[in-house]
Amino acid sequence: MGYVKFLGTAGARFVVARQLRSSAGTWIELGGTQLLLDPGPGTLLRARKSRPALDPTKLSAILLSHKHLDHSTDVNIMIEAMADGGFKRRGTLLAPGDALEGDDPVVLRYVRPFLERIETWHAGAEHEVAGLAIRPVPHTHGSVETYGLVLDSPEGRVGFVTDAKFTPELAVSYAGCRLLVLNVVMRDWKPDVDHLSLPEAAEIIRTVQPKLAVLTHFGATMLRGNPRGLAAELAKTLGIPVIAAADGLTVGSAEWA
Ligand SMILES: [Zn+2]
Repeated sequence: MGYVKFLGTAGARFVVARQLRSSAGTWIELGGTQLLLDPGPGTLLRARKSRPALDPTKLSAILLSHKHLDHSTDVNIMIEAMADGGFKRRGTLLAPGDALEGDDPVVLRYVRPFLERIETWHAGAEHEVAGLAIRPVPHTHGSVETYGLVLDSPEGRVGFVTDAKFTPELAVSYAGCRLLVLNVVMRDWKPDVDHLSLPEAAEIIRTVQPKLAVLTHFGATMLRGNPRGLAAELAKTLGIPVIAAADGLTVGSAEWA
């Protein structure tokens, strides 16, 4: 049985800076393969303090959606931990090109040899990690290269709508996802914002029609609005199960079967 475990659910700088929620990443097991998405600040600590503790040396890959700090702060230490402290060469890093090259790369050069494989996301590409097919979805999100992800696994198709400015076409890329995880930073829609608001997330969920939608990566307005209540309201409106992630929440694949 696969699962998605939310080590952290913080989004946006205010919530992350004050650690109103944990900003650790999302641990994924599908088809027996373990992956880590967006290792924000506190990921290694939260992984080891989890019950049962999560073991970085069991990871096959680290997936980085984009290089903003709340997604990438722990990427270097997690690469080292995946490689058993850098003593073994193991694991894959999948990341945007600007996380690796250019003026301000976030992946340190000295940890790169610890990895067996580094691949950069490209629109239309498909990546394979231990039997899982991973397809990046290009997002518009400020000035940094950003991707959402669609994973095809024995437990079905799983989509992560990471940080994104809403476009009506966005939902099309996530067609067929049985589990859809969405980064919903803002409760209310505002023009020209690089993050999804709750009404925009609702539109994506309505189009994709997943078996289960999980909201995460909350900014201050979502937290003040009570994410659990907002998710329950949305579920009622859409007639689709929608839940709000909490720090440490594990969602098992039976819930999206
Ligand atoms: Zn971001």
